[in-house]
Amino acid sequence: MDQSIPVKGGEFLVREIPPENIFIREDFSEEQKLIGQTCQDFLDTEIFPVLDRIDSHEEGLMRQLLDKTGELGLLAISIPEEFGGFGQSFLTSMYASEILGAGFSYAVAYSCHTGIGTLPILYYGNEEQKQKYIPKLATGEMIGAYCLTEPGAGSDANSGTSKATLSADGKCWILNGQKMWITNAGYADVFTVFAKIDNDRVQSAFIVERNFPGIVFNPEENKMGIKGSSTRQIFFNDCQVPVENLLGKRGEGFRIALNILHMGRIKLGANVIGSAKTAINYSVKYANERKQFNCLISQFGAIKFKLAEQVIRTFVTESAVYRASKDIEEAIKYFTGIGEDKGRDTMEAFNQFAIESAAMKVFASEMLDYVVDEAVQIHGGMGYSSEMPVDRAYRDSRINRIFEGTNEINRLLITDTVLKRAAKKEIPVMEEAQKIMAEIPGLKAGVKETAQDYYKSKEVSIRNFKKAALVLLKTVSEKYTKTLVMEQEIINNISDMIMLLYAAESTLLRIKKLEKTKNAESQKIYRDILDVFVYDAAALIRKFGSDAINSFAFGETKDLLKKGIDYWTDVEGINIRDARRRIADTLISENKYCF
Ligand SMILES: Cc1cc2nc3c(=O)[nH]c(=O)nc-3n(C[C@H](O)[C@H](O)[C@H](O)COP(=O)(O)OP(=O)(O)OC[C@H]3O[C@@H](n4cnc5c(N)ncnc54)[C@H](O)[C@@H]3O)c2cc1C
Repeated sequence: MDQSIPVKGGEFLVREIPPENIFIREDFSEEQKLIGQTCQDFLDTEIFPVLDRIDSHEEGLMRQLLDKTGELGLLAISIPEEFGGFGQSFLTSMYASEILGAGFSYAVAYSCHTGIGTLPILYYGNEEQKQKYIPKLATGEMIGAYCLTEPGAGSDANSGTSKATLSADGKCWILNGQKMWITNAGYADVFTVFAKIDNDRVQSAFIVERNFPGIVFNPEENKMGIKGSSTRQIFFNDCQVPVENLLGKRGEGFRIALNILHMGRIKLGANVIGSAKTAINYSVKYANERKQFNCLISQFGAIKFKLAEQVIRTFVTESAVYRASKDIEEAIKYFTGIGEDKGRDTMEAFNQFAIESAAMKVFASEMLDYVVDEAVQIHGGMGYSSEMPVDRAYRDSRINRIFEGTNEINRLLITDTVLKRAAKKEIPVMEEAQKIMAEIPGLKAGVKETAQDYYKSKEVSIRNFKKAALVLLKTVSEKYTKTLVMEQEIINNISDMIMLLYAAESTLLRIKKLEKTKNAESQKIYRDILDVFVYDAAALIRKFGSDAINSFAFGETKDLLKKGIDYWTDVEGINIRDARRRIADTLISENKYCF
């Protein structure tokens, strides 16, 4: 690959970058903040007051809300100007996704429409298709949906049995099949539907309008959470799709489906940050009001622990998500600059960051589950009451680990993609790992590569985390060559290590970059966040690494790897209790997320 792409996907494993090169949330411009404010105002005035009505599927309400979103221009943020959009950057759309992500079921409808509902046509449609659909999708005149999943084809999405055959007169595709779990199905006007033409091995994609003959919608699914988002099964019974509505090339559907999902995954990362901040606000407000034993519960160490952890995990996720988003944005500029097909070139950029997107999808969705779970706990019995908003936050969070590819599938994808890129020599994983392996015999327990400087010592820790992951990637792939796919537990261990080190490094870079702009007091809190996260990450990386080693290695190799892992994860002890208390105290005194 050409070296002029600023950062390659997965390269973080083998390359260090200066903090100036990463994007942090604090870098958003005034114009971007204004868009964020518009999103926030919209949530405050139009969505939050009607959450119960949304969840009860009040007839026509969600569609009206999407119409209003369209009137404000928020469905068109990153649609090119030539199709009636605002042509804003990917990062701006991520920012909007973060803010609107706090909108519970509405957020799901919004994300589905602006992401998987619109982008397949924008990126893979021909000129006529784009002219016909994109301006309407940009205003909300049409709402989009995405139909990949079938009753027998979920994670194994290409195994779907939906079929398309050309009609005798050659004028339309006759579509037959059943799709399930289709978001926005209740009111969407246009669907990207995946089906195999004749006996093709891979799927093609079709643009299907709601009023085409032969479509039947099941009633709404009764779901555990995101109750107000529309989710239905759709049957295509000899549905006639005009021949010109084939999207992309024949057999390109599965590639379209996967590439769109890479984008959906990183967007999900932004969505859940918004939800997490809302849940933290519920938590701290309640903790600052509720008294037990004659004391506000926010003053108890056990509650401070939870509040601090909620903040740490949210802040860390945010650092990593926006870092990856900027890298994607740069890659979009690069690929669209050298290519001739803007849509496919943009998708190439998302594909390039498949590792980071999958990592963020898993990390962020699990972060949110932690945050909402502890939000319920902080509310005690009231957390279990459907009177309280944490009830909705808790139920709505859970879906994030399931859609956009389950977390199991995404964990597999992380390590698998790293190894594929390594095999293609796109990232020098094996070469670096080889050098690191040679260092292990010389490592002396207790004798550390010391660094007096605060940031240097954190850099050493994170460099060591990378060493641990790289060495495992190499030894495991050599041990299993073609059968690694059967070793999912080990793959998961390595993926967890990769996610943790990427998150830790992103947080370090963000805080280092902030050093120049923040006052000493707030910088102390950021250092506390970093201290706690790196300390915990080291323990987790040691555990995941040891689990992997104990599962596959023996003899000398095992001893060598164990020695390496123990050394690389031996970080300096910090007063973790006091660090968490300081973080919690900041949240408690502000009574809202303020980091
Ligand atoms: C509310 C909601 C909205 C949705 N919206 C849409 C939509 O708009 N469009 C759309 O096309 N789809 C949508 N989906 C479908 C969603 O993407 C799928 O549910 C998801 O991909 C998982 O597929 P599945 O449900 O068939 O689970 P399965 O694939 O049956 O998985 C069951 C379990 O097995 C695990 N598993 C499966 N394969 C493997 C493997 N190889 N290795 C290890 N573990 C594995 C899974 O991780 C999971 O834990 C939605 C789903 C829900 C619930």
